[in-house]
Amino acid sequence: MSKNKSPFFWIENNKNKFKEDFRYKKGYTEVSRLGYYNTKEWKDLRALKISANPLCEHCLKKEKYVEANVVDHIIPIFSENIHLFYEYNNLQSLCNNCHFKKTRRDNSRYNENNLKKGNEIKAQFENYD
Ligand SMILES: [Zn+2]
Repeated sequence: MSKNKSPFFWIENNKNKFKEDFRYKKGYTEVSRLGYYNTKEWKDLRALKISANPLCEHCLKKEKYVEANVVDHIIPIFSENIHLFYEYNNLQSLCNNCHFKKTRRDNSRYNENNLKKGNEIKAQFENYD
């Protein structure tokens, strides 16, 4: 897997732009405010994930068949681990109900475990040639 073909290429190519972004400078950590959900890359990736996993993955584990309508980042995204935004392996399809429960549970942004996991995935990615 070459770096150019990675899900992070967009971020790599736009790194300086991103750093110049006034929202980043102001320390905004909410990815929704950074505009990533409005990119074509995200819309394509989301559609890909929903077509691969049209059922809620949490409900499936309990043998319930519920249509997924949210593509969730397993490791919640904030500016420090923005590299995971387009990481396919960090995505899961969920129903609204499971997504709501999950979001409440992981109290996401400042959770140290999530940061640690994010850095582990990042390290794996950086080892690709
Ligand atoms: Zn569910």
